[in-house]
Amino acid sequence: MRNRHTYYLLVALMMVMACFPSKSEAIPLTPIRILIDVGHGGIDSGTSHGNLYEKDINLQIAKRLYQHLTAAGYSVAMNREEDIALSDDNRWLNSRSRHLRDLAQRKNLVKEIVPQMMLSLHVNWSSDTKRSGPLVLYQSNEQSYMLADLLQVSLNNLWGTKANPIKGKTYYMLRHNYCPSVIVEMGFISNGSDRKQLTNPDGQEKIAQAITAAVSEYVILTGNLKMEALVEESWWQKLVDGLMN
Ligand SMILES: [Zn+2]
Repeated sequence: MRNRHTYYLLVALMMVMACFPSKSEAIPLTPIRILIDVGHGGIDSGTSHGNLYEKDINLQIAKRLYQHLTAAGYSVAMNREEDIALSDDNRWLNSRSRHLRDLAQRKNLVKEIVPQMMLSLHVNWSSDTKRSGPLVLYQSNEQSYMLADLLQVSLNNLWGTKANPIKGKTYYMLRHNYCPSVIVEMGFISNGSDRKQLTNPDGQEKIAQAITAAVSEYVILTGNLKMEALVEESWWQKLVDGLMN
């Protein structure tokens, strides 16, 4: 080794860096592409309470979410902007099953748009009218879990609940996606107080804000993780260079 001093200096610097990790506020320079998957539509109403349909609540909140995310600088797409079934617009699967055509449409939209994050909006139902609160389901990978956890905490704060996100096993959408994907069950249509939150403009606005806040936290957090990995990599490279010279 030609320069032993440089080597020791680098090791000392790395030890110092380990004690004082960098807290970079890295925000990605390119806008993140987010797909809002608006649950149900058209003939498929989702769950309901009297004349109140899940498909309509999903769309109303999706529109607000679209505005908040766009204002925050994200590049956002919605898979439907009106009351239609995706199967009506299907270009990929010639099947007699409307359900399969609908799923194929959703899956292929994801392939076409290549989102970096997918948020599926839904409303829950239970025979127990006391059941209430948001519930986030995640795809079985670290990124999806991290996003789901931040969303769950943000929505828990709005409701005053303490639910944990759960792994979504049987969801077609979640199994076939390759970006952080979550299903946000925004509350129970079967619960009176949830219904109020889900249907009045102020409640809808708060839900959209809580989701947007969690998305931004996720982006900042993952941006920081990437930056820290880069910093570590560059120091490691210098150390290796030092040893080689
Ligand atoms: Zn649903």
